Amino acid sequence: MTRPQALSTLFALDSLLSPDEIEIRDTVRKFAATRLRPHIAQWFESARIPVRELARELGELGVLGMHLDGHGCAGTSATAYGLACLELEAVDSGIRSLVSVQGSLAMFSIHHWGSEEQKRQWLPRMAAGTAIGCFGLTEPDFGSNPGGMRTRARRDGGDWILDGTKMWITNGSVADVAVVWARTDEGIRGFVVPTDTPGFSAPEIHGKLSLRASVTSELVLDGVRLPASAMLPEAEGLRGPLAALGEARFGIAFGAMGAARDCFETAVDYARSRTVFDKPLAGYQLTQAKLADMALELGKGHLLAYHLGRLKDGGEITPEQISTGKLNSVREAVAIARECRTILGANGITLEYPVLRHANNLESVLTYEGTSEVHQLTLGKALTGEAAFR
Ligand SMILES: Cc1cc2nc3c(=O)[nH]c(=O)nc-3n(C[C@H](O)[C@H](O)[C@H](O)COP(=O)(O)OP(=O)(O)OC[C@H]3O[C@@H](n4cnc5c(N)ncnc54)[C@H](O)[C@@H]3O)c2cc1C
Repeated sequence: MTRPQALSTLFALDSLLSPDEIEIRDTVRKFAATRLRPHIAQWFESARIPVRELARELGELGVLGMHLDGHGCAGTSATAYGLACLELEAVDSGIRSLVSVQGSLAMFSIHHWGSEEQKRQWLPRMAAGTAIGCFGLTEPDFGSNPGGMRTRARRDGGDWILDGTKMWITNGSVADVAVVWARTDEGIRGFVVPTDTPGFSAPEIHGKLSLRASVTSELVLDGVRLPASAMLPEAEGLRGPLAALGEARFGIAFGAMGAARDCFETAVDYARSRTVFDKPLAGYQLTQAKLADMALELGKGHLLAYHLGRLKDGGEITPEQISTGKLNSVREAVAIARECRTILGANGITLEYPVLRHANNLESVLTYEGTSEVHQLTLGKALTGEAAFR
């Protein structure tokens, strides 16, 4: 059998990256291979992940808030950040979620909308991974429509009092700080909430069949009293959380391609070594048709992600373009993970191979940061001028 060609060679993907970006990508890939991959199946199976330890190591690696500038953040290109997401998600979407929530949601909100004091207090520790952040937008009755939120912040003298419940919050019960979005008399505002504030609790959600290597929690705010300085001064209305979601969605456009690539490489290796009806599975036309079709979607997905990276680095990217990337990458990654599972036969359902773990994780990725339907509606509105959300 001749040596197979790597996907990156087929699409000449590295020709689109700078030497710095390749170096960052390779550093993250090495960390992922040595520090994460050997343990991931066990973390997923036990639904226990050493988040604090990993956050510190990811901080040392320089990937937490890496595309932000100043206050201890690395200030890399958006493309480099996307590549880091891709390499981390090639191990597990849960690890990439930890990095996305920390950097794109919690740190970005403080970096973009926070006061100088809030930035100084939180960003250097969050970049180093010694403080963990979470982002509380979704509520039990309001996911796709966060504008309906019921969590309330009311003024009491110079203070704010927060009451409400947030649901499905990544890193919630391990966080030191929560960026919480709440309704006020002046509209929706963001609050920086230290998680040791009396009245704040974050019970963990158990029994997940997806993203088991990620902590997901409820946030309960029961008369949480905060000083006036806890409000993010620059974020007014839903554009605050939506801007942060755009950052995370951008990372997912890259990241989901990592999960799909890992499934694909596993399937190619398996098909080359598995003998069926006296010859390698890879030698059958049906298998090759599956692999060829998956390679096309992987290549196109990578190219779209890289293109979005260049647009973002040029400061030109639009929310609709980010929706295009998120929708396409995750939907194709789900299809690829499932197709790869068929190539692995019964072995494909075990944790010995990553494909069904990725497939299960991708169900969450399809749902969070805007469901596929929400992104279809975003594109539908851009294409027709008609909003069909309600
Ligand atoms: C593992 C995990 C981690 C998460 N982490 C976070 C986090 O850190 N912070 C946070 O704030 N949230 C988080 N979320 C929540 C996530 O963002 C929401 O689950 C998501 O927005 C969808 O909301 P929902 O689950 O309430 O579904 P719903 O909004 O109830 O949607 C149910 C179905 O209805 C569809 N639908 C909704 N509106 C329309 C419409 N107008 N037309 C047609 N179909 C529609 C949806 O696409 C979906 O298929 C997380 C979720 C998961 C699973």
